[in-house]
Amino acid sequence: TEPVHIVGAGLAGSEAAWQIARAGVPVVIHEMRPAVATFAHRTSDCAEMVCSNSFRSDDDVMNAVGQLHWEMRAADGLIMAMAERHRLPAGGALAVDRDAFSASVTAALRAEPLVSFAPGEITGLPADGHWIIATGPLTSDALGRAIAAETGAEALAFFDAIAPIVHADTIDMDIAWRQSRYDKGETEEERTAYINCPMDRTQYDAFIDALLAAEKTEFHEGETAGYFDGCLPIEVMAERGRETLRFGPMKPVGLTNAHRPEEKPYAVVQLRRDNALGTLYNIVGFQTKMKYGAQTDVFKSIPGLQSARFARLGGIHRNTFLNSPTLLDERMRLRSRPHLRFAGQITGVEGYVESAAMGLLAGRMAAAEALGRDLGPPPGTTSMGALVHHITGGAEAKTFQPMNVNFGLFPPIEARAGRRGRKDRYPAYTERAKTDFSQWLAG
Ligand code: FAD
Repeated sequence: TEPVHIVGAGLAGSEAAWQIARAGVPVVIHEMRPAVATFAHRTSDCAEMVCSNSFRSDDDVMNAVGQLHWEMRAADGLIMAMAERHRLPAGGALAVDRDAFSASVTAALRAEPLVSFAPGEITGLPADGHWIIATGPLTSDALGRAIAAETGAEALAFFDAIAPIVHADTIDMDIAWRQSRYDKGETEEERTAYINCPMDRTQYDAFIDALLAAEKTEFHEGETAGYFDGCLPIEVMAERGRETLRFGPMKPVGLTNAHRPEEKPYAVVQLRRDNALGTLYNIVGFQTKMKYGAQTDVFKSIPGLQSARFARLGGIHRNTFLNSPTLLDERMRLRSRPHLRFAGQITGVEGYVESAAMGLLAGRMAAAEALGRDLGPPPGTTSMGALVHHITGGAEAKTFQPMNVNFGLFPPIEARAGRRGRKDRYPAYTERAKTDFSQWLAG
């Protein structure tokens, strides 16, 4: 069997290599460290955790990332096995001794007879063979340029300017209303595509004060380049003048408060649909460098969002990622050059666990292909399937931003009697996910 080549031995590449070797297919790992460094990695080990030492919640009943752990364990995942071996006490979270963890992943791969290492940076897109590109958020410049030349520059982002994403069912629709600015749109769906939260003058003033006072995170070297892309953080806009936001993303024109048509709002916060299911909405233009705790406080002061739950908070940082909904097929292959598969954070997922999970999936799919078989993605009712369906088609391509796994990506479960609370819904989601994932694995 021809080998599968993997570029990048991070969280995704390491898991992919393991899965491929376990399927009986030879695999060659191309990793640029230590010859070429990134600003975040410190070692030359595989699967280095560059920041926190946590794989987040291990609760596979009430939490979508915990459910993803479960699925990765069920699929004989290397990352989860080594995390378990080096687990540290951390309440409900799966935290690890990071150096011991990475050393074990490296040792496990080196001990696999079907895995070999070909150290060095890959600077261009390979012309043939089976490849998985898993070079992560800090993909080297040369390879980044080669990818952009293939996909078109607008389809490869180098910065992540994320506005917070809210679970739609936690927005108070007695205060907010659905309407597109100037009622624009051909269809009723388009004319009501946005959810609007009104502010009067006092609320707006208090909001600006809170923004200015909030704790912010610092930029890394090179990250401020994001400013030139017209994605200014809201707090930076607020610093430029108290009225800047009211004439920018919070302008109230072309909108009528459905609950109080006679009152002109002083400012309006708009939320835009973020997925095909309509379960997630992003706050338009609200990319931010505020610390997470400050974000929740400030955003909950917006009328209508007082009880909001966030699928993910905002941020701006260096992050190379593809516009996967337009570029990748559902088997994670580049549509224009199907011998190239992508995995990990570069596909537009966010987080160690999500990246490793996409490595697991890409590895299994690549191994199947090398063996002349075909493997489709897991059903969208599973954590792994929900994520891959989101990035390869479910997400809005125009506003595509990296995504964490969360229950907002799951097809809703019909309420049996009345509206089900989270306490009933989440166990129902994870139970369905376990059944469906096991079936996919068995098939
Ligand atoms: P990586 O783990 O980065 O692996 C990519 C590998 O490819 C690297 O080893 C790199 O050296 C190599 N490579 C790059 N270009 C080439 C090339 N041309 N040729 C050969 N090799 C190449 N997620 C969390 O869950 N928690 C956090 O706390 C967290 N903190 C983060 C902090 C920073 C500064 C960054 C940038 C990201 C953070 N993330 C975090 C997000 C993300 O989960 C991690 O970056 C994760 O490591 C992504 O996995 P990956 O396998 O896609 O990429």
